[in-house]
Amino acid sequence: MSDRYKTILLFGPPGVGKGTQGKILARIPGFFHSSTGDIFRNLDAQSELGRLFFQYSSRGELVPDDVTMKIWNQNLYANTHLGLFKPHADLLVLDGLPRSVNQASLLYRYCDVRCIIHLVCRNKEALFERMRKRAMKENRVDDAQPEVIRRRFEVYERETIPVLEFYKSMNITEIDAMRSPAAVLREILDAIVPIQETHYRELGNLG
Ligand code: ADP
Repeated sequence: MSDRYKTILLFGPPGVGKGTQGKILARIPGFFHSSTGDIFRNLDAQSELGRLFFQYSSRGELVPDDVTMKIWNQNLYANTHLGLFKPHADLLVLDGLPRSVNQASLLYRYCDVRCIIHLVCRNKEALFERMRKRAMKENRVDDAQPEVIRRRFEVYERETIPVLEFYKSMNITEIDAMRSPAAVLREILDAIVPIQETHYRELGNLG
């Protein structure tokens, strides 16, 4: 059996609800949610890495790939040692990674991507509005300024959308994200429950 993590990718533009859905999935046994945005925000803001993150995120830019992959790896390692992530039993739900084709190729040695959930919203204005509200609620500097939000979308279109091409031979499920969280969740579950059932069967956990 491959030692790579069995992985589900939550993919989509900033503000589309990847974090909301990832956090819900994390409450279900057998799923482990890993969000690079959350990992970065949890860094000590005064530390060297915390300052580096601020430098990029406050401009709407991506943190360099080598730093991102290293911090993500360390975080997963720590969660594994704490017994919070069980690599063989859990499906890893990745949120915010990969955000570039280079990250997707660096991820290959760690992750066996089983499915991609593409949360889609064609109404950019609606996403801007969600982000403005989120910035106030969660005190996120990256979403507080309209120019930074615009920059984040440019980066998404230039760097992140091509990731879909990288995974074009994979099972990509497109879901309309502009509905209630429960309606979006239902469609995500339709796509990923069969993957978990297959995984559990492979592990011998199901009849
Ligand atoms: P959102 O939920 O709005 O898509 P995130 O919380 O995932 O945003 O990310 C916030 C910021 O953290 C990004 O703008 C970027 O600066 C940094 N970041 C998160 N994930 C990555 C990544 N995979 N590569 C580089 N930078 C990242």
